[in-house]
Amino acid sequence: MRKPLIAGNWKLFKTIAESVALVDELKPLVAGNQSVEIVVAPVFTALCRVSNAIKGSNINMASQDCYWEEEGAFTGEVAPKLLKDAGCSHAIIGHSERRQYFGETDLTVNKKTKAAIAAGLCAIVCVGESLAERESDRTFNVIETQIKGGLDGIAEEAFSKIVIAYEPVWAIGTGKTASDAQAQEVHAFIRQLVARLFGQEVADALRILYGGSVKPDNVKGLMTQPDIDGALVGGASLKAESFAAIVNF
Ligand code: PEP
Repeated sequence: MRKPLIAGNWKLFKTIAESVALVDELKPLVAGNQSVEIVVAPVFTALCRVSNAIKGSNINMASQDCYWEEEGAFTGEVAPKLLKDAGCSHAIIGHSERRQYFGETDLTVNKKTKAAIAAGLCAIVCVGESLAERESDRTFNVIETQIKGGLDGIAEEAFSKIVIAYEPVWAIGTGKTASDAQAQEVHAFIRQLVARLFGQEVADALRILYGGSVKPDNVKGLMTQPDIDGALVGGASLKAESFAAIVNF
């Protein structure tokens, strides 16, 4: 009942030409796959050209961030409606790199999530604990705080436009994946928490992605877990072949 979603976060990689070349190479490799929702998230400068390149294909596009105001004197920011205008259907919000390097907080995640949804984007809201937090047994507390803060005040009806990505910070870009059981344990916790906060129906329909060194050789084990509904992929999404192998798991 929950369609798997596999999203590729290209981070700060690739020129416009390289981005277009990557989706051009990816298109035929995933063309037959109607069972997975496929999303790529290029850098801002490549959005329009990638949008043109994926027209008519089964690939969708996300921004890697957004601002919460629609317009105004906010130098350097990009509003959700402008991202929609550039061809995005999704926005990644609250990635751990934004939390770590750019002062993103649960409050800004909340504002951005509400603004993205209001503009008609699907918000991919990222949560995850650091290594120190896991080692001091605070994983569930951290996730609970992030989810309560990030999704505060969001109406039940809006959840059709929300996806949560669980990304343990210690597994991002490190080659260390959470084991299938470790990931499933947190995903189940998130689903129960969402059921408690927003109702069982919302929780049952909510897609929860896993992110953190997902590769073609570990995606299958993760995807067979009952509460894992897809993946947010960094490094392995930068090559068409490996991203396609993950999409076609
Ligand atoms: C990410 O950027 O969200 C990510 C999970 O990266 P990687 O797959 O490289 O760990």
